[in-house]
Amino acid sequence: MSRLLIIGCGGVASVAIAKCCQNSEVFSEICIASRTKSKCDAVAEKWRPTTKTQITTAEIDAMDVAALTKLINDYKPDAVLNVALPYQDLAIMDACLEAGVHYIDTANYEPEDTDDPEWRAIYEKRCKELGFSAYFDYSWQWAYQEKFEKAGLTALLGTGFDPGVTSVFVAYAKKHYFDTIDTIDILDCNGGDHGYKFATNFNPEINLREVSAPGSYMENGKWVEIPAMSIKREYDFPQVGMKDMYLLHHEEIEALGRNLPEVKRIRFFMTFGQSYLDHMRCLEDVGMLSTTPVMHNGVEIVPIQFLKTLLPDPATLGPRTKGKTNIGCIFTGKKDDKEKKLFIYNVCDHEECYKEVGSQAISYTTGVPAMIGAMMVVQGLWKKPGVFTTDEFDPDPYMEALNKWGLPWVVDENPVLVD
Ligand code: NDP
Repeated sequence: MSRLLIIGCGGVASVAIAKCCQNSEVFSEICIASRTKSKCDAVAEKWRPTTKTQITTAEIDAMDVAALTKLINDYKPDAVLNVALPYQDLAIMDACLEAGVHYIDTANYEPEDTDDPEWRAIYEKRCKELGFSAYFDYSWQWAYQEKFEKAGLTALLGTGFDPGVTSVFVAYAKKHYFDTIDTIDILDCNGGDHGYKFATNFNPEINLREVSAPGSYMENGKWVEIPAMSIKREYDFPQVGMKDMYLLHHEEIEALGRNLPEVKRIRFFMTFGQSYLDHMRCLEDVGMLSTTPVMHNGVEIVPIQFLKTLLPDPATLGPRTKGKTNIGCIFTGKKDDKEKKLFIYNVCDHEECYKEVGSQAISYTTGVPAMIGAMMVVQGLWKKPGVFTTDEFDPDPYMEALNKWGLPWVVDENPVLVD
C-alpha cells in the first residue's frame, strides 16, 4: 500500500496513471499534479469508477521548487513519478530532496532554453571533452549522486521503454546469458501508421530535438559522432517486417557506456518512414525546429513551440494508429568461451493498447515501465541511496512485472545481426 505523486498529465502520464489504477494493491493512493489541472481532473474522472486507488489532483508548476516541495510535504507520498518534461527534472529532484522522498523519471535532463549562456558554456565544454553534442546528457542528474546518497533517497532515472526497459534487457542478458557482452544494438521500431502525413508519437518538441540532432555511438569507450541520419540499415523486425532504421544518439548509450565499460560497441537505431524524414528536413531547413525565440507581429514566439501547436497532439493518435512496435536489444558476446548472440524484444500492438487504456503504443510502452519503476522503488525491490539508471539493479523482478503488466518479452537466441 503506497502513495504516489505523479507529475505531468500528458500521453505517457495517462498510461502510467491507468496502470497504477490497475495495480491498486501497490498504489492505494495517487495524486495527479500538473500545469493544467483540468487534464488531471478528466483523467481522474475516467479511471475512478474502475479502481480502488484513491485519486486526487492538484495544479502545480513543477519549475516552482518551493510550491512543489509544499505539495509533496502536504501529500506525503512515498515517491514522486516525474512524467512531465525533461526540462523539469532538476527542479523536481530538488523538491524531492527538500521534502525527503524518492524520485523516478523517464527521460534525462535537458534545458528548455538552449541559448542560456550559463548552460551553454557547460554544454560546449562537454561537447569538446566527451565528443557528443546532444542537448541532453546524464551529467546534470548524476551530479545529484551525493545529495541523494546522503539523504538516503533513491533517484531512479529513465524508466520508460528506451531508456528504461532496454537497459533492463541489458542487465538481464548479462545476468543470465553472457559472461562478457561485446556489442549491444538497441533497435526501436515503430511499424504503426496514424494516417497523418506528419505527426510525432510523443511530445513533438522533445521528439524533434532528439531526431534532428547528430547521431552518435560508443566504440571502445569513446563517442563517435556522425551527421544526423547518415547511417542507415534495413532490418526485418519480428511481427512488423522490413523497415529502414537510422543510427541516433540516445541517452541509454551514455549510462551503459559508463556502467559496462567492457562492452566494445553500443549503438541505437530507430525506424523512420520517408515521409517523416522529408517533413522533418523541410521543417529544419526553414527554421521551424529552432528553440531560439523570434518576433512575429510584435509577439515573441519559439518556432518549435509554435510547430507543436500546429501538429496533432500525440495523445489523440490512439484511435487512429494501427500496427505494432518492436523494441529490443541485440547482443553479441561470449558464454563459457563460446561466441553467443541474443535478441530480447517486446512487440506491442497500437490497437490493443488503445482498447485497454485509450492510448497508442508509444505512450503505452513508456507509461507501463514508468509505473513498474515506481513500483520497484515503493516496494523496496529497487531501493538504494543515490542516483541510478535501470541497468544498475536486479533485472528479474522488473522483467517479471513487464510480463504481468502488458509488455511481455521474447528471447531469440539466433537473431540476424545488424552489420
Ligand atoms: P506530453 O507533452 O504529452 O505531457 C507532458 C505533461 O507535462 C503535460 O501534462 C504538461 O502539462 C506537463 N508539464 C509541462 N511542463 C510542466 C510544468 N512546468 N509543471 C507541471 N507540469 C508540466 O509529454 P509525453 O507524455 O509525451 O512525455 C512525457 C515524458 O516522457 C517526457 O519527459 C518524454 O521525454 C518522456 N518519454 C520517455 C520515453 C522513454 O521511452 N523513456 C518515450 C517517450 C517519452 P500541460 O498539459 O499543461 O502542457
